[in-house]
Amino acid sequence: MKSTRKGLRDGELHKDTYGRLTCSECEKTLKKRNDPDEIFAVRVCPECGREWKELR
Ligand SMILES: [Zn+2]
Repeated sequence: MKSTRKGLRDGELHKDTYGRLTCSECEKTLKKRNDPDEIFAVRVCPECGREWKELR
């Protein structure tokens, strides 16, 4: 799984005018899924289901 930072750099993600992470393909704001066992949060696009990890 790519990091959100890499996704932004690769153009898969961008930030909307409110600074929220958005899927470039679907124009959907990413949802956040917290896994208590992981050191990162998972950001999911509700449209295409792609996931990126967000380091905390
Ligand atoms: Zn998407």
